[in-house]
Amino acid sequence: MNPLLEISFRVPFDQIQASQVEPAIDQLLADTKLRLAEAIVSPRPLHALDTMTERLEYAMNVVRHLESVVTTPELRAAFNAVQPKVSAFYSSLPLNPELWNAIKRYAATAEGQALTGAMKRYQTKTIDSFKRHGADLPPAGKARLQEIDVALTEATTKFSENVLDSTNAYELLLTDEKQLAGLPPTAVAAARASAESKAKPGWRFTLHGPSYVALMTYLDDAPIREQVWRAYNARAAEAPYDNRGLLKKILELRREKAQLLGFRDFADLVLDDRMAHTGDTAQNFLDDLRVRTEPRFKEENAALESFAGQTLQPWDVGYWAEKQRAALYDFDEEALRPYFPLQNVVTGMFEIFGRVFGIRVEPEAGVPAWDAEVRCYAVRDAATNANLGSFYADWFPRENKRGGAWMDSLITGNPTAENPSDRRPHLGLICGNLTPPVDGKPALLTHREAETIFHEFGHLLHHLLSRVEVRSLAGTSVPWDFVELPSQIMENWCWERESLNLFARHWQTGARLPEDLFQKMKRAKTFRAANAQMRQIGFGVVDLALHRSWDGHSDVVKFARGVLVNFAPAPLPEDYAMITGFTHLFSSPVGYGAGYYSYKWAEVLDADAFTRFRKEGVFSAAVGRDFRDKILARGDSEDPAVLYRSFMGRDPDPNALLERTGLL
Ligand SMILES: [Zn+2]
Repeated sequence: MNPLLEISFRVPFDQIQASQVEPAIDQLLADTKLRLAEAIVSPRPLHALDTMTERLEYAMNVVRHLESVVTTPELRAAFNAVQPKVSAFYSSLPLNPELWNAIKRYAATAEGQALTGAMKRYQTKTIDSFKRHGADLPPAGKARLQEIDVALTEATTKFSENVLDSTNAYELLLTDEKQLAGLPPTAVAAARASAESKAKPGWRFTLHGPSYVALMTYLDDAPIREQVWRAYNARAAEAPYDNRGLLKKILELRREKAQLLGFRDFADLVLDDRMAHTGDTAQNFLDDLRVRTEPRFKEENAALESFAGQTLQPWDVGYWAEKQRAALYDFDEEALRPYFPLQNVVTGMFEIFGRVFGIRVEPEAGVPAWDAEVRCYAVRDAATNANLGSFYADWFPRENKRGGAWMDSLITGNPTAENPSDRRPHLGLICGNLTPPVDGKPALLTHREAETIFHEFGHLLHHLLSRVEVRSLAGTSVPWDFVELPSQIMENWCWERESLNLFARHWQTGARLPEDLFQKMKRAKTFRAANAQMRQIGFGVVDLALHRSWDGHSDVVKFARGVLVNFAPAPLPEDYAMITGFTHLFSSPVGYGAGYYSYKWAEVLDADAFTRFRKEGVFSAAVGRDFRDKILARGDSEDPAVLYRSFMGRDPDPNALLERTGLL
C-alpha cells in the first residue's frame, strides 16, 4: 500500500520512498478529476470544491516537505515530475466552463443565496477568483490571457536569469593587502577562499550578498567601494544581460492582463483579494508613513554627515553608518548568545504562549519523523483539554535541508467541529537553520534566531488554533498582507523585560539577561531606523508607481530612479539602475509585484496590535483570548480588516510602529 494515498495523522515519514511519489500523485490526480466531475453535477458544488483536493494536498504537502528537509536526487526528480501536473490541474479549475456554470448556478439557488459566515465568504471569494482568472472572458479573451501568462512566465524567468548571470559575471580581484584595510578577518578569509576556488591570486570579491555587504560596510578604500557599488546598481542594465526591454515588457503585459480582466491596473488586480484591496489604499498608506518618517530620516542623515565630516556619496553611507554605530553603541550581538540556549528559548516560549493563549504544549515521544533530531509536540486547549493538533520542530541545518526558517501545514483539521465525530486535529511543522550545538555546549542562539523561533511559532499557532470549517479559508490561508500579523506579533515578546526573564537565562549560571545588555540591545535596534524605513517605503512606492503611473513608453529606468531619489540618503547618479536587478518585483509573473508595501503594512499591524498587550499586560490571558478568538481562530473566514477591527476596536494606527522603532 502506497503510504501517500491515504491521510494519516501519524505521517509514516520513515516509510515514504521517492519511487512512490509519481504513482501516488498520478492516482490522486485521477481520483480528484473524478471528484471534480462529481462536484460539477453535485447539488452543492461549492462544498465539493472545498474538499475534493484534500488527499492530493496532503500527499503534495508531505512530498514537498520531504524534498525540503531530506532531499535526494531521486526525491527531487520525483517532485519535479509531479509538480507541473498538479499546478496545471489547479490552474485549469477557473477556466473549466462546466465548473464555473455549476458554481454560478448554485449561487443563484435559494440555498446559495442564504449562505452565511465562512461559506458565504468562500462563495464570494471563489466567484471573484474565477473571474480574476478569466472565467467570464469570451474565448478570444481567454486565449489572449493564456498568451499573456505564458509571455509573463518567459519574460520574468529571463529577467531573473539576467540578474543572476550579471551578478556572477562580476568579480573584483585585489592583490595588494593594503587595499583590504578595514575588512574583518572573516571577510578577508572568505575573499581569499573565493580567489583560491577560482585558482586566482589575491582576494576575490563579488556582488553576492555576504561579499558585497562586507565591502560596503567595512572597506576603508572609498574608490573601491564606489566601483563595486556602481557595478551592483548596474546589474542587468546593459548587454549581454540587459533587463531594460524585459522590464518594459513585463509592465506592459501586467497592465494588459489587468485591463483585460476589468481592472484599472495591475496593482488593483493583485490587491483586489488582499487586505489593502486597492492600489490607492496601499499608496496612501506608504505616503502617510513617508511623511511621518521623513523628518527623522533627514536628521539621521545630517548627523551621519557631521559624524563623517564630509559630504556622503551613496557608497559611503553604509561604511560611515557602521563607524557611527560602533562609536555610539559599544554592543556586540554575540554577547547575547549565552542567554539564549535553544532549549530555554523553546520551553520559555511554550510557557509564555501557554499563559497568553490558554494552551498547553507537550512533547510527544515515539512519533516517526524524517530525522533523529526532529521533535514532535501536541497542543491542547488548557481549559477543555481538547486535542488541537500536533507539530514537528526541526531546528538545525543539514546538507539535505534547504536554508531559512519556515512553517508549513500538513493537515488542516477541524478540532472543534460541532459534531464530535467530525473533529480532527491539525498537523503542522516548523523548521529552522539555527546555530547548532558545538564543543559540548548546548545550541546558543543569537537574539535574532530566538525571534525567528517566535515568528514561526506564530504562523504555527495561526494554523493549530484555526476553527474555520471551510478548509480553503482555514489557518494561514489569509491574504498576503495579513499573514505576517500572527507571526510578527510574537517577536514582540523577545523585546519585553518580563517575557525575556522567562526564557533568556544564562546557559551555565541561569542568570537573567543583564539590564545593561538589554538596554544596549534595545538602543541598537533603533539606530538609523528612519533610514531603514525610508528604504522599504521607497521600494514600495517605486513598485506601485511602476505598476500604476508609469506612462508605458518613457525610459523606465529613469522613471524608477526619479522615484527612488526621494528616498535615498545620498544623491543617486544619473545612470542608477537598481530597478533592473530588482528580482522581488520581476522574477515571477506576480511575486512581490505591486505587493512590496506588504512588509511595512504587516509591521504596522503587528506593532499596533501588540499595544493592547503592552497596556493590559504582556501575559494578559484576556487579551490573549481575544487575539486567539478574533484573529488566530478565524483564518480567512472574514475580511481581515474586519477581524483586525474586532480585535482593536478601530483601524490600524501607524504610530505604534514609529514608537517601537524610536521614530516618534
Ligand atoms: Zn513569516
